[in-house]
Amino acid sequence: MSPPVIGITTGYSKNPDGLPGIYLLRAYVRAVQEAGGLPVLLPSDLAESDWETVYARLDGILFSGGGDISLEHFDGSPHPRISEVDPRRDALELALARRLAEEGKPFLGICRGCQLVNVAFGGTLFTHIYDQLPGALDHAYPGNMRTVLAHPVRLEPGGRLAHIVQTEQLMVNSLHHQGLKNLSPDLRPLAWAPDGLVEAIELSHHPFGLAVQWHPEWLTDRQESRHLFKAFVDAAKSHG
Ligand code: MN
Repeated sequence: MSPPVIGITTGYSKNPDGLPGIYLLRAYVRAVQEAGGLPVLLPSDLAESDWETVYARLDGILFSGGGDISLEHFDGSPHPRISEVDPRRDALELALARRLAEEGKPFLGICRGCQLVNVAFGGTLFTHIYDQLPGALDHAYPGNMRTVLAHPVRLEPGGRLAHIVQTEQLMVNSLHHQGLKNLSPDLRPLAWAPDGLVEAIELSHHPFGLAVQWHPEWLTDRQESRHLFKAFVDAAKSHG
């Protein structure tokens, strides 16, 4: 049986000569492969008329991390730290998330991908956590230390995520300066940081619509992370 095809959304960057490129850290690709999926990169500059063709061939979609989502899409406070806004990426990913919801096709959101899922269904974001959430923890661990376990998350007892990772308490990395503020009514919280920030969500009435604020793709030496990717890839396999 062929492996499920997992589309992974991408960002933009420039090479050392200043030429534009399509960007995705390999950790996402490796994590999907290790879980038995076949990763395919999705450039944001696909024409809308071509999304359909690509979409039909995907068994699941991973919304990867990246820059901040434009304030055009949710009711949030302008802040000087808002950065790397990419209108084409926002448009593609928001449309994809709504489509996946309609059709019950599995998806996993990571970091920006978690925020994207909330915004896609009418939720809002803290546009800079420290200035907007009293008592906030340090969620942007300095120096891009992606494998540092920065804070615990408490999982909803008996919830979907606790079931998948087989624990109700996890230590996670934390590489985000924005976070979920008002949760969309279509979503359920599955995990919280000690400061109350929601760090994982699921789309209600969907076979597998999960998103986490941390980066499990950098923690695949931990079985909880491997369980999460495996559950996603297996859901895509069942759907496809
Ligand atoms: Mn965090």
